Amino acid sequence: LLPERATRVRNLIVDVPDFPSPGILFKDITPLLADAQGLADVIEAFTRLALADGRGGTGGIDVVAGMEARGFLLGTPVAHALGLGFLPLRKAGKLPPPTERVSYDLEYGSAAIELRSGTLTPGARVLIIDDVLATGGTAAAAAQLVEQCGGVVAGLAFLLELETLHGRDRLARYNVDTLLRVG
Ligand code: AMP
Repeated sequence: LLPERATRVRNLIVDVPDFPSPGILFKDITPLLADAQGLADVIEAFTRLALADGRGGTGGIDVVAGMEARGFLLGTPVAHALGLGFLPLRKAGKLPPPTERVSYDLEYGSAAIELRSGTLTPGARVLIIDDVLATGGTAAAAAQLVEQCGGVVAGLAFLLELETLHGRDRLARYNVDTLLRVG
């Protein structure tokens, strides 16, 4: 993101204290999604990233995947802009069978994500997109799911990185890009 655009986009992401539980500072992107210029800037920035470093274009990335639910909102327009398809990585139980599944630990309890069997072409290079990189647990599970289905993780891209949570460390094996960072 160009500096003046980055400031504008940053101001469209609203901090909501103690949501969804006490102690969490929730980064709400709904004002950003509602803003025509902000949305366009973010989709363009993701698209440019995907096309950079020789990773993008139809040569470097074959398909875009996004995490439920905000990864769908950002990932699908990026896939379309790149002329590629989109794979939804859904919370367990939402997709009809057959699916591939990866379970992962949360701070309290566990969660699982699924990909519809047969939608990922084996060997395809996948760009994974989500809004926020926090602890990296969700993104690591997404990358594992892509690999379990025979895909190659070309990279992971996030709108906002919460640097104090060191999610990047869990994704050390991968190319990780973030449009904005907060410490
Ligand atoms: P994590 O697995 O800890 O990296 O969490 C990432 C997932 O949870 C992403 O899908 C985010 O949308 C969401 N998330 C985590 N922390 C926040 C936060 N502070 N504000 C908004 N979304 C968050």
